[in-house]
Amino acid sequence: RDDGTCPTSCSKSYRGSCAQGGRPIQRQDFGENPTEVRDTNHYEKEYVHGFVEKWDELIDWRRRYESEGTFFIDQLKARGVKRVLDVATGTGFHSVRLVQEGFDTVSADGSQEMLRKAFENGFTYGQYVLKVVQADWRYLNRDVHGEFDAIICLGNSFTHLFSERDRRKALAEFYALLKHDGVLIIDQRNYDSILDDGFSSTHSYYYCGEEVTAEPEYVDEGLARFRYRFPDGSEYALNMFPLRKDYMRRLMREVGFQRVDTFGDFQKTYHEADPDFFIHVAEKM
Ligand code: SAM
Repeated sequence: RDDGTCPTSCSKSYRGSCAQGGRPIQRQDFGENPTEVRDTNHYEKEYVHGFVEKWDELIDWRRRYESEGTFFIDQLKARGVKRVLDVATGTGFHSVRLVQEGFDTVSADGSQEMLRKAFENGFTYGQYVLKVVQADWRYLNRDVHGEFDAIICLGNSFTHLFSERDRRKALAEFYALLKHDGVLIIDQRNYDSILDDGFSSTHSYYYCGEEVTAEPEYVDEGLARFRYRFPDGSEYALNMFPLRKDYMRRLMREVGFQRVDTFGDFQKTYHEADPDFFIHVAEKM
């Protein structure tokens, strides 16, 4: 459907939050100078209805399931984790996986559009009723209560924070919601390689949809603007901050995490330029 109405029966959830009078926002708006949009608050406007509906085509659940294997589940089970907070739920891929594996899971995200889709996917992929909470990471403790054994922030999500202040604030909020021996798992694209050597993603992990292209159209030390093209001709963009790996590791330590292990495409040993993604596993104590 392209008439501006929501294809699901969720119109109620848009009321009050949508500039189109209760209908989902369809168009991304980066203004006249897209490469100057370097704003943490902009993510909500980037995940418009059409893009969210296409997101699962981009990440292809089945292939992602196969390529990730049991990496995250193993990390959590090895630490005896029971309660998990997925802070970047997106369309729900990891939340659904966690619920399937028996973890007590809370699914948070700052985007109402994403949470609507995640809730729908929870039902579609197993009749699960996900516990969803709309919450921005910078004010997470205001909206999410209780303590968690683990927090996951996956799918290159942390890259949406554009200032160091926001990154520190978000990490501190994650830290505060973890139990004393809790673990934070954050992944990110290998931006070092993109910044230093150019882009060469093999698309084998995460963004697995074969017919979909995800390519940087502009990169500097303060912005990685990616363009996503779908087989039906539709296109969307995301403006992200290119996190360097060692900077990210340092931030986590400075916020208080005692130990940070970094994996490259799920492997403990890797060549710096090789992996598409890094996964940081940060332990609180
Ligand atoms: N984890 C999902 C996946 O792997 O498919 C979604 C990844 S998507 C790239 C990034 C997600 O982070 C979006 O759902 C977006 O709404 C969320 N997000 C970005 N910035 C946020 C913030 N400041 N607070 C809360 N959620 C945020």
